[in-house]
Amino acid sequence: MSNIVNNLVEEYIREMLPKNKGKIKEIEEYAEKNNVPIIQPEVAKFMEVMIKTSKTRSILEIGTAIGYSAMIFCRAMGKEGRVVSIEKREDMHSIASANIKEAGYDRNITLLLGDASDLLDQVEGSFDMIFLDAAKGHYLKFLLSCIDKLNDNGIIISDNVLYKGMIASDKYVKRRKITIVKRMRKYLDYISNHPQLTTSIITIGDGVAITYKKGGI
Ligand code: SAM
Repeated sequence: MSNIVNNLVEEYIREMLPKNKGKIKEIEEYAEKNNVPIIQPEVAKFMEVMIKTSKTRSILEIGTAIGYSAMIFCRAMGKEGRVVSIEKREDMHSIASANIKEAGYDRNITLLLGDASDLLDQVEGSFDMIFLDAAKGHYLKFLLSCIDKLNDNGIIISDNVLYKGMIASDKYVKRRKITIVKRMRKYLDYISNHPQLTTSIITIGDGVAITYKKGGI
């Protein structure tokens, strides 16, 4: 139970989505079997729509896992698309490299191995979109380290921002998650109230925030 979306509604929406094929389907099956957290189907579809409507051509991703979302993004962007994705776990990074090569996206996706807190400063270039999907307690730190790499009129998508309902209500908070919850609330407050950012929080998956950046940050 996600505490965010009614299960029957979620199932209905998922049933409606076309099924993936080939390597992407294979990765979904691997992730399920091995408990690797990847973006949920309705979040993946939402990302595809955002990428296509905003004509995004470059994405900085924090949290590669096994490369699933990076491939979904490339498929949506087409052959001109480029993703730079950071992952701190060596095992995940190496599976992602193999998956991406096998899927033929190795020219589009650059994988960086290391902690995003250390690597973000060294990332070169600028991006149309930033996707935050790692270490929920560090979103604000990550954002502040890379917001200057986001192009004006660019978009930040932050996944898992409602964290099983814990962010919205103390009723759901588990004691050991208190620090993450406090930090995520602070992050949501920042992106919701910053004068140059416009944010909408959507109750799909585990909660997704979309943030638009106007010029001058
Ligand atoms: N975006 C992926 C997808 O949908 O296919 C899923 C990413 S998974 C939810 C989060 C990943 O972030 C994990 O593989 C974890 O090891 C990685 N991670 C956590 N903290 C990190 C950090 N500080 N720097 C880089 N990667 C980190």
